Amino acid sequence: MEHQVSHRLPRVLIFPLPAQGPVNSMLKLAELLALQGLHVTFLNTQFTHNRLLLHADIQARFATYPGFLFKTISDGLPDDHPRSGDTVMEVIRSINTESKSVFRHMLVSDELGSENSPSVTCIIVDGIFGGFATDIANELHIPIIHFRTLGACCIWVNLCIPKVIEGRELPIRGEEDMDRLIRNVPGTERFLRCRDLPSFCRARNLTDPDLQVFVQQTLHSPRAQAIILNTFEDLEGPIISHIRTLCPNIYSIGPLHMHLKLRLANNEASSQSSNNLFEVDRSCIAWLDAQPPKSIIYISFGSFTVMTRNQLIEFWYGLVNSNARFLWVARLDLVAGDGEEAQIPLELLEESRERGFIVGWAPQEEVLAHPAVGGFLTHSGWNSTLESIVAGVPMICWPYFADQQVNSRFVSEVWKIGIDIKDVCDRKIVEKMLNDLMVERKEEFSKAADEISRLARQSVNEGGSSYYNLDRLIEDIRLTSS
Ligand code: UDP
Repeated sequence: MEHQVSHRLPRVLIFPLPAQGPVNSMLKLAELLALQGLHVTFLNTQFTHNRLLLHADIQARFATYPGFLFKTISDGLPDDHPRSGDTVMEVIRSINTESKSVFRHMLVSDELGSENSPSVTCIIVDGIFGGFATDIANELHIPIIHFRTLGACCIWVNLCIPKVIEGRELPIRGEEDMDRLIRNVPGTERFLRCRDLPSFCRARNLTDPDLQVFVQQTLHSPRAQAIILNTFEDLEGPIISHIRTLCPNIYSIGPLHMHLKLRLANNEASSQSSNNLFEVDRSCIAWLDAQPPKSIIYISFGSFTVMTRNQLIEFWYGLVNSNARFLWVARLDLVAGDGEEAQIPLELLEESRERGFIVGWAPQEEVLAHPAVGGFLTHSGWNSTLESIVAGVPMICWPYFADQQVNSRFVSEVWKIGIDIKDVCDRKIVEKMLNDLMVERKEEFSKAADEISRLARQSVNEGGSSYYNLDRLIEDIRLTSS
């Protein structure tokens, strides 16, 4: 059946990777489009949608936008699959193979629309699903845009991986090879080492399925009408220019969380836009209120990172020995293993009462913006990196996987707003780096972080590059949908 493009109101379908970071940023984009009067359908996997349903505030907020719909699709995995921590690649692989025909059926049968806007007239899909979604969009003559929730730096590296392989720079030949510079990623030759490539490049075998997913899906990017990036020109302009040689139409519209905050304020609506899949513990804000300015190191490793008990203990002693005061997000599944092995040792919890505060999940944007926070020990997820940049908070980076290895190198070597300790987890190093960030080199890092924060804010204000690009995106969606 040929898909009939409606001549009624345009409807944008947004389909994120079902994980905290991508859902957060794509819901922010959805809200920005809805604020401009576009009808949006946000398509989630059933599992992630059920988690969103637990948050009445999110449902209530989106119910105020005319034509906004939440819809669900199966991820093809059994009900008892954990869908968390290390299993995200299984979720991605399953959706790429199992959800294809359902996705097509939903579009063809107009299941994703409403009375005023029955048909999807534009698809914005997480680029990780860019392969099958672009095939279907092309077949049905629906314009498709890929949203890449990673930084431009990692997208560019992914796009260059075939050249890196061709140039025999991969596979990496063991630990002694990790500091070798990579030559085939233009613009990064001076500082990008094997160690800084996306974690999947560490595979000994180049047919490794995780490496293939990341590389292959990125290679679909040039097939989209356009690419949306959650970044801004003053941060990643030179790298975005490289990507433009392959994907000419790029809308860099970030940092999205700041962008949304500003546009909500202009609309005199609520400026609250939390999109958490976890239950937020706000008690840490009152604790922060009682701390001196810039005295606290905030520690969070995002929604996926899993560490061993030994690594946790090394971080802990580094922290305690540095005398830093801290706010630590310790997710229930942060520590690998079963039973007692996966518990945070009681004596550590006891000691934390003196100098720190532990929560299961924090209101991170608010925490980073709090005057008491002076540093961020992070896993370098792209959302966390951007949130820290906006808040002007310098970072210590301990990347875990995927794009985080690239992000942390850019933080330390390009933007110079933090220290990268990737692949090291030793209490003495942690102590020294905390001391550098919070005491010895505090001024140097704060100055650099303040300047980038200023540029981030400028980009989303009227006249800024991200502000302009978002208006252009909305205009283009309207034009191609009519
Ligand atoms: N986050 C949060 N509270 C926490 C930890 C994380 O709200 O205690 C949010 C954070 O603000 C960010 C997202 O979770 O928006 C994590 O995304 P990121 O890309 O940094 O990492 P991921 O979880 O995808 O590895």
